[in-house]
Amino acid sequence: MKTTDRAATSGKIVRIAGPVVGVTGLENAKLYDVVHIGELQLVGEIIRLQGEVVTVQVYEETSGLRLGERVTTTGGPLSVQLGPGLLGQVYDGLQRPLNLLAEEGGAWIPRGLRAAPLSEDRRWHFTPTVEAGDRVGPGEVLGTTPETSRLDHRILVPHGAGGRVVEIRAGDFKIVDPVARIETTDGTRELTMVQTWPVRRPRPVGQRIPARDPLITGTRVIDALFPLAKGGSAIIPGGFGTGKTVLQQALSRWSDVDVVVYIGCGERGNEMAEVLEEFPNLDDPHTGEPLMRRTVLIANTSNMPVAAREASIYTGITIAEYYRDMGYDVLLLADSTSRWGEALREISGRLEEMPGEEGYPAYLGTRIAEFYERAGRAVPNGSGDRTGSVSVVGAVSPPGGDFSEPVTQNSMRAAGAFWGLDYDLSRRRHFPAINWSQSYTLYRFERDGSETDDGWDELVRSAQVLLREEADLLEIVQLVGPDAMSETERLVLFAARMIREDFLQQSALHLIDRFCPPEKTRGLLHAIMTFYQMAGKALREEVSLERIAALPEVAEIARAKELELEIAVEVLEGLADRIGQSFRALAEKEAV
Ligand code: ADP
Ligand code: MG
Repeated sequence: MKTTDRAATSGKIVRIAGPVVGVTGLENAKLYDVVHIGELQLVGEIIRLQGEVVTVQVYEETSGLRLGERVTTTGGPLSVQLGPGLLGQVYDGLQRPLNLLAEEGGAWIPRGLRAAPLSEDRRWHFTPTVEAGDRVGPGEVLGTTPETSRLDHRILVPHGAGGRVVEIRAGDFKIVDPVARIETTDGTRELTMVQTWPVRRPRPVGQRIPARDPLITGTRVIDALFPLAKGGSAIIPGGFGTGKTVLQQALSRWSDVDVVVYIGCGERGNEMAEVLEEFPNLDDPHTGEPLMRRTVLIANTSNMPVAAREASIYTGITIAEYYRDMGYDVLLLADSTSRWGEALREISGRLEEMPGEEGYPAYLGTRIAEFYERAGRAVPNGSGDRTGSVSVVGAVSPPGGDFSEPVTQNSMRAAGAFWGLDYDLSRRRHFPAINWSQSYTLYRFERDGSETDDGWDELVRSAQVLLREEADLLEIVQLVGPDAMSETERLVLFAARMIREDFLQQSALHLIDRFCPPEKTRGLLHAIMTFYQMAGKALREEVSLERIAALPEVAEIARAKELELEIAVEVLEGLADRIGQSFRALAEKEAV
């Protein structure tokens, strides 16, 4: 964690309350400055200035700390280092590389340990995109370096810098080597491939633009019923064991974005360890490349106190914004934001602030809103036609699965899509357990009327109508019993069940079905709705539901989600045709 030196001063500890420490004698202290605490040089952040005493939130375990130990300010806010080499890294909330630290310090990170977030020895091949004499402003692309085989890392002029390029050269450089010299209003300045940014401050953009392209996740219930836009935000609230983590991991793996930032709070003991073990073995279905190459993982290790979760949220979103500024589509996942909310509550309690709802601080809603507002689609600063986006998906774990609690409610107000996980569905092993009558999305897409999109909205709408009719019918059945139902009503139940079981249900563990591309999603839904439509017509022509339900296509539809991706679309088209033929044959038999 690099900080800019303003004026380093030191003071001493006068009070210790868990992760909150009171310090006197710190001159020039500014709110949110980073300090180093005690002999171990623990990392903390100033969160309150009041009279003589400066209050510090400590991001590391404070046990053993004694009154009177020295505290020094770094004179700068909590910042991250941004440059090539971020992708594929596993960091803690303070951007300390976990794999590297694990080698040095054993199984967990020793307190106070420092390590450079980006390798300072590795050389990157830099190719300039501007020339000497060009004028460049903040955010301008100076040149590129291939960070992975798929992603060119664009080296940007840091915010606040700008001027005329005096010298720039191609070559193999370390991130700290100057690659360009520019003439600014106050002298010349050397630019390197690395820059720092204070995590609590959103990185500026040229212009925010509406989010209008869908983010394809490969999860059918989302892509079809409750889609997210690139640059949009969504929350996944759900009680314990309803599938938040599994869904977030599926999103991190299969979404069609350039970069993924995954912040794990690890609700369960070895959850993060599993992620770290599995990720390196997975390939991106869009490119065939290892998924880890487009991913930055931020893990809160179990020996770090709650306050570190705060840092990890901001560290993560800042890295996401940095890749957006290069013109990439980024997806940020946070699992679970409730742990962050709890950290805010604990710190607020230690500060003896006036508690708001359920003990959370009154500013909980503001903090959550500010976090989700950092999602968006934008034209970055600088010239050239780049657009980038940060999409944010936060899991929320309300105690007892009760969505009326403050973290869920505030997140709901801030995010554009709501994928509510349902305890009953998860218990019946309907996964993903997204409740289709409770969930929603505010994102609408202008389809360009191309052949593949033709009729899609209508198809989805009719499926939603069918699910609603099912819900209404089930209520009536509860009252009057199943015998009172007409054949048409029974068909509604029959077809809605196909939608639920053969379309909405999707196993994250099945090697083929875990990722469903849009064409296959469409093909599946089309086959089911064709069946439903033909069945309705057949009923009107006096064919019995019993005979309809016995058609072999029913079983074929049920197996269709396991079709290999290469053949799925063709097979599904054939299936839809055969459904038509089968029903015509049924009607003919009935007629004779
Ligand atoms: P949460 O994070 O909400 O506590 P998890 O994501 O850990 O819950 O899910 C709990 C369990 O539910 C998983 O271990 C898995 O067995 C099952 N599960 C959840 N989602 C799916 C899914 N999409 N496909 C298959 N199984 C799932
Ligand atoms: Mg979980």
